[in-house]
Amino acid sequence: MTPTPDYFRNIEPKTCTDCGKTIDEMHECYLNQCDQCLRHADHF
Ligand SMILES: [Zn+2]
Repeated sequence: MTPTPDYFRNIEPKTCTDCGKTIDEMHECYLNQCDQCLRHADHF
């Protein structure tokens, strides 16, 4: 009956480190930037 860390991580929205916008984890689950900022930082 104890909540697992995965449960909290599931409900916790990931935010972009660049603009602070909520990232759609289904779209970018391994990145810390939203799609918009990623396109701006295309130079890698
Ligand atoms: Zn962003």
